[in-house]
Amino acid sequence: MTDKQKEDLRLEIPSYAWISLARRGMEKISLDQCFLKNCDNQDLKLLEPLEMQQFEEENKEIKVISIKCHKCEGIFKLKLETLKKVAKPTKKSKDGEADEDALSMGLVYALDENDNNLGHVGYF
Ligand SMILES: [Zn+2]
Repeated sequence: MTDKQKEDLRLEIPSYAWISLARRGMEKISLDQCFLKNCDNQDLKLLEPLEMQQFEEENKEIKVISIKCHKCEGIFKLKLETLKKVAKPTKKSKDGEADEDALSMGLVYALDENDNNLGHVGYF
């Protein structure tokens, strides 16, 4: 993969996800980190995006991005699910533009190399 392609792939990964803290609101966490057990890498330079798979399921658009961690030398995947039309159809605003935010919501999961779920990371 060329540097340009890697850079494009990196842009597919949201920088942050939001995690819900029950009654204490939401906390922002960086997705520029390794999600494998026993690894505390948070250095973007040591995270190399390898490939992305993109597909659609019913009402969902799914992107699975494989990332190589150069600290623990492991590979993990970020699964980004964008749910379509979560909210009921919104009325168009006065200027005629639909409210995009209300119509899609993203969920982030971390998977290991063999697609074992490492957990729900948060929302984006
Ligand atoms: Zn790692």
